[in-house]
Amino acid sequence: MTAVGLRERDDLADLSGYHSPQVDVDVRLNTNESPYPPPASWREALLEELARIPFHRYPDRDALALRSGIGELHGVGPEQVLAANGSNEVLQSVCLAYGGRERAAVVFEPTYRLHSHIARVTGTAVVTGRRQPDFTLDVAEVRRVVAEARPQIVFLCSPNNPTGRVEPPEVLEALLDVAPGLVVVDEAYGQFAPHSALELVADDRPLVVVRTFSKTWSMAAARLGYLVGPAAVVQTLGKVMLPYHLDAMKQAAGRLAIRFRAEMEARVAAVVEERERVASALADLPVESWPSGANFILFRPQAKDGDQVWGALLDRSILVRNCVDWPGVEGCLRVTVGTASENDAFLTALTEALA
Ligand code: PMP
Repeated sequence: MTAVGLRERDDLADLSGYHSPQVDVDVRLNTNESPYPPPASWREALLEELARIPFHRYPDRDALALRSGIGELHGVGPEQVLAANGSNEVLQSVCLAYGGRERAAVVFEPTYRLHSHIARVTGTAVVTGRRQPDFTLDVAEVRRVVAEARPQIVFLCSPNNPTGRVEPPEVLEALLDVAPGLVVVDEAYGQFAPHSALELVADDRPLVVVRTFSKTWSMAAARLGYLVGPAAVVQTLGKVMLPYHLDAMKQAAGRLAIRFRAEMEARVAAVVEERERVASALADLPVESWPSGANFILFRPQAKDGDQVWGALLDRSILVRNCVDWPGVEGCLRVTVGTASENDAFLTALTEALA
């Protein structure tokens, strides 16, 4: 019973909201945002467009121009694209439409915590498979868990948050082979990785690929994400979306961003180059770290306590993600790749913190 005397849903009792502390620091490397703002010309085009929005009217309910633009990026039509308020809302709509009572979703931990959280919030049972100690997935374990759970939804995060691992194509092939329901590949960090599941999307394959404008497109503030999948799945997901869920400003922001694809790709390339530089610097420090195909790197201080190192970084005005008590990545910290000078500041501070 809560202070106002209300009884919440029994299955919410053990859940807490998901959040990352937003602390005022000089160098913020904790939420995997892009360190670069979007191009100035995008901002100008957006401001012009905002001035023309008829604000007394509802926006285009189908967000057709935006979905067509996203479809063109991936060589599919708008009927194979669902756009929503961040990829988290895309994931939620998948759980609302395909999960729920007496249905299960499979996740392979450690992975993005919102997959199991959103599944539970929507009343979907969560069945957990385990990754190997090096965070790779064993195909036999994938087959075993899916065969036992018979899930309506399987989440695969590639590159995986928080580990950075990119799943090899064999894992996805095995999943598509055994999964009785929908396979959801979360590619929130897809553009930082060498390969994607997008080319496997087809109207006759129960596979959807989820992406976001938050990271690669430098638009975390806009809250825009999408999914590419079979037209029939997109149609089903339309049943659980609220009417006019995408406001006109967001539709314009996304539609205009696509014109600046080359600039996006240049920013991604810069982040990937910096990621490799940070990864090799970490290799020379007393930390364990894992190869990343994303815009962040997971590492575990070897001789020092992770909490202490996190605090020592914060004392130096550098905020990284503290994962020390996350199941499966105990003792680890996760650093987002920033600008060259932010990364230098991080590496200097980390060297001091580990000394
Ligand atoms: N998927 C993964 C794997 C993520 O790490 C994130 C952001 N932390 C999201 C989805 C959600 O991103 P957004 O809602 O900003 O699109």
